[in-house]
Amino acid sequence: MSGGASGLKSEGKKFVVDSMLGNLAKWLRIMGYDTLYSRVYSDWQILRVARSSGRIIVTRDRGLYWRARKLGLRAVLIESLNTVERLAELSSKAGVRLELNPSRSRCPLCNGNLVEVKDKALVKDRVPEGSYNSVDRFFVCDRCGKVYWEGSHWRNMKKTLEEAAKLKRSGGFML
Ligand SMILES: [Zn+2]
Repeated sequence: MSGGASGLKSEGKKFVVDSMLGNLAKWLRIMGYDTLYSRVYSDWQILRVARSSGRIIVTRDRGLYWRARKLGLRAVLIESLNTVERLAELSSKAGVRLELNPSRSRCPLCNGNLVEVKDKALVKDRVPEGSYNSVDRFFVCDRCGKVYWEGSHWRNMKKTLEEAAKLKRSGGFML
């Protein structure tokens, strides 16, 4: 159960994220990783779900991290403070790909799968007109129904991931 993350294909990795790292949970989902997160998870619930569904624990809490390790669970301790550094750290410690591909993404709100809309007219009344006219591909969460597309927000996220990848290569996030 323990050991490095390198043995698994990154596509198959699943995570459970502690309540202090909600932002990172959203990033993991956007990058396509099945990620559980709740503001109200107790340490005990996190440990239990990690064990029962083979999830890697992502935490800022040293106590939780060491408890997980003692139980033979896989855990990543995040020590950086800002988003770019945290992404670089997570990628380095858990082998997460710092890439965006909407057809693989999960809904950052609910962890549902994003499904490409076959005919964009189906989402016309749920998307701002400017975006509707300038974008061709739209995706809908199969769980909560939220609509996504590659707009300016998406491009900003890509930039953030590129920065994180650069930082990771330089090892600059090390404390
Ligand atoms: Zn959703």
